[in-house]
Amino acid sequence: MNIGIAGAGLLGRLLAFQLARAGHRVHAFDPAAHAEARGAAGWTAAGMLSPVAELECADENVFALGLRSMELWPEVLAQLEVPVECSFDGSLLLAHRGDEGAARRVVELLEAKIGEVHLRSPAAAAPRHPTPVDRIELRELEPAVSGPAHAWLLPGEGRIHTMQAMQALAASAHGVQWHWGTTVESADAGVLRAGGTEHRFDWVFDVRGTGARPQLPVRGVRGEIFWLQAPGVTLRRPLRLLHPRYRVYLVPRAPDLVVVGASEIESEDRSPVSLRSTVELLAAAHSVVPELAEARVVHSESNLRPALPDNLPRLSTQDGLTRINGLFRHGWLIAPALVEQALQEMRT
Ligand SMILES: Cc1cc2nc3c(=O)[nH]c(=O)nc-3n(C[C@H](O)[C@H](O)[C@H](O)COP(=O)(O)OP(=O)(O)OC[C@H]3O[C@@H](n4cnc5c(N)ncnc54)[C@H](O)[C@@H]3O)c2cc1C
Repeated sequence: MNIGIAGAGLLGRLLAFQLARAGHRVHAFDPAAHAEARGAAGWTAAGMLSPVAELECADENVFALGLRSMELWPEVLAQLEVPVECSFDGSLLLAHRGDEGAARRVVELLEAKIGEVHLRSPAAAAPRHPTPVDRIELRELEPAVSGPAHAWLLPGEGRIHTMQAMQALAASAHGVQWHWGTTVESADAGVLRAGGTEHRFDWVFDVRGTGARPQLPVRGVRGEIFWLQAPGVTLRRPLRLLHPRYRVYLVPRAPDLVVVGASEIESEDRSPVSLRSTVELLAAAHSVVPELAEARVVHSESNLRPALPDNLPRLSTQDGLTRINGLFRHGWLIAPALVEQALQEMRT
C-alpha cells in the first residue's frame, strides 16, 4: 500500500519502520527540520518501561499494552541496524523514612490494581507484584543508593535509551520518504493536507501528538528533565522516589549519564526548565544517591506529553485512516503494542 504518516516522533518512526519492513511505500511528514531535530516528546523521554509503577496513574489497558510492549521491544531492537541500550532488570520504588505512609499508600494502590488484572489474567499479573527490599538487599541491588529507608523491587521493569532508539528507528526504516520541514494541516481517510497540497494515500496514520489539534482534543503536559554526568556512579536500574508531593525518577543511560525527571505541569509552555523544578528534582535525586553531589548537570530539557482529556491512549481505525494519540507519560512503555494493534486493524 501507499501509506502517509503525519508525525515522525516515537509512533511515526515505529510505524514507518514496521510498514517499510512489511513492503509498503511509506511517506512520513513532520515539521522538524531533519531526522535529528528534537521537537518530539519521544526524544526528551527518560525511557522508563514501567507497567506496574505507571498503574498509579493509568488503567488496566495501559498495563496490558505495557506488558505486551515489553515482549515486543527486544524483537524490534533486534531488527534495527544500530544497537540500542535497553534492559529489563526491574526498577526500584524508594521512600525516605518520614514518607513511609504516603509510599505505602502508593504500593497498596499498585497492589490493588494488579489484583484487578490478576482476576482477569493471572499469568500476566502474577510475577509483577512489588517486592519489599530490606537495607542489605538494597545495598546488593544498588550500592549507590543510600538515602531511602524503604524500598520495593518491581521485577521485570526496564528502560530504553530513547535518543538511540529514535535515531536507530529512522536509520533502519529503509525506503521511507521523509518529508522534513513539512507541517500536516489535516489528516483524513486517504488524504493528508500538507503545505497547502493534498497528498492521496491508500492509508493515512495520524500520529502528530500535540500537533493533532483541532482534529483531536489533545493537550500538552509539560515535563522537565536533567542529564547528570556521573562517571563514578553506577546505577543498574531505574529508581523512583515516592515523595508525598511529587515523583522523581533516576534512569541510568550509557555511557555515564543519569537522567533525572520529571515534572508534570498542566501547561504548554516549552520554555527552559524552571528554578523550582531544578531545585526539587535535583535535591530529590541527591537525597537518593548522595554520590551524585559531584555530578555535572550537562543538559536540561522541557517538552510536552501528548494527553487526551482522560489521560488515556486512544487508537481509532476507520477505512483508510488510523489515529493514535494520548500516549501521555507512557509512550515508550506502550508504543510497540499500539503499533501492533493498529497494523492488525489496518489489515482486517
Ligand atoms: C519529560 C518527559 C519524560 C517522559 N518519560 C517517559 C518515560 O520515561 N517512559 C515513557 O514510556 N514515556 C515517557 N514520556 C512520554 C513519551 O515521550 C510520549 O508519550 C511519546 O513520545 C508520545 O509519542 P508520539 O509519537 O505520540 O508523540 P511525539 O513523540 O511527541 O511525536 C509527535 C510528532 O508529531 C510531529 N508533529 C506535530 N505536529 C505536526 C503536524 N502538524 N504535522 C506533522 N507532524 C507533526 C512532531 O514534530 C513530532 O515529531 C516522557 C515524556 C516527557 C515529555
